[in-house]
Amino acid sequence: MKIAFIGLGNMGGGMAANLVKAGHQVHAFDLAQAALDRAVANGCATFTNVRDAVGDADAVVSMLPNGAIVRSVYAADVIGHAPAGALLLDCSTIDVASAREVAAGAQAGGYRMLDAPVSGGIAAANGGTLTFMVGGTEQDFAAAQPILAAMGKAVIHAGESGAGQAAKICNNMLLGASMVATCETFKLAERLGLDLQTFYDISSKASGQCWSMTSYCPVPGVGPVTPADNDYQGGFATALMLKDLKLAMAAAQDAGAPVPMGHRAQELYEAFDAAGNGGVDFSAIIKTL
Ligand code: NAD
Repeated sequence: MKIAFIGLGNMGGGMAANLVKAGHQVHAFDLAQAALDRAVANGCATFTNVRDAVGDADAVVSMLPNGAIVRSVYAADVIGHAPAGALLLDCSTIDVASAREVAAGAQAGGYRMLDAPVSGGIAAANGGTLTFMVGGTEQDFAAAQPILAAMGKAVIHAGESGAGQAAKICNNMLLGASMVATCETFKLAERLGLDLQTFYDISSKASGQCWSMTSYCPVPGVGPVTPADNDYQGGFATALMLKDLKLAMAAAQDAGAPVPMGHRAQELYEAFDAAGNGGVDFSAIIKTL
């Protein structure tokens, strides 16, 4: 297929390269020259604007920073410029309302559109092992399989338009809250004189078990190798966790859903980010407790 790819940053760069490896022709566009240079090295054809990149595309994939940018790129340069009937896939993490608005505009313009945000970081984007959570019709979901499967290990239909974004922010709200709870639990265990590896061995097999503990333990030297063992470098940046928690809080407000734990996690990550820790792994919040 001819696939236009918009947004070749930390995530999009590797994803576009995996589409090339799967045999697709990738027409790439990014505002940053360095991203375009990397795309050329990975076998993409590059363009100087979105309209030219999408002009004869069978499908368009976007991986952009936020909802405002996604709304403006689609409204100004994709809808009405990509061929009628093209399949549009936005893989960025954005608010549910923007995802639904962009999809409605695309459908009104004669396109098929899915929201398909991802779980998994830069390593998963480069390795083609992302998990996609997809919102849209069954038919469009089926049509997107060859594209998403080239970039991921799991492609899951979450429901109708916007459901992919909803699943993503709900998952990450749970992750943020459970990480804070895991961190404070280990600090309490330490104060109570427990050996932390012993506590890990107990709790990871008891009812306190959760992913933040078992697979991503925030304590250096305890459990599997995690960013904690590398001074909290790499992994999932605090700034991105904060972004997702803010999206979850906005969605909760719109939906009238009480989220006291998510709200507290957002406050704690906001303070941690403001103290200059936006670039470190989100499990480093243990240092503040
Ligand atoms: P990034 O900042 O590295 O990349 C974004 C790219 O978009 C940049 O190269 C930028 O130049 C480009 N861009 C911005 N505006 C543009 C425009 N109008 N037209 C074309 N290109 C434009 O960000 P990233 O880490 O690749 O994240 C992308 C998306 O993926 C975000 O929505 C993020 O929340 C989500 N995400 C990131 C991770 C992660 O670990 N980095 C994990 C899951 C989801």
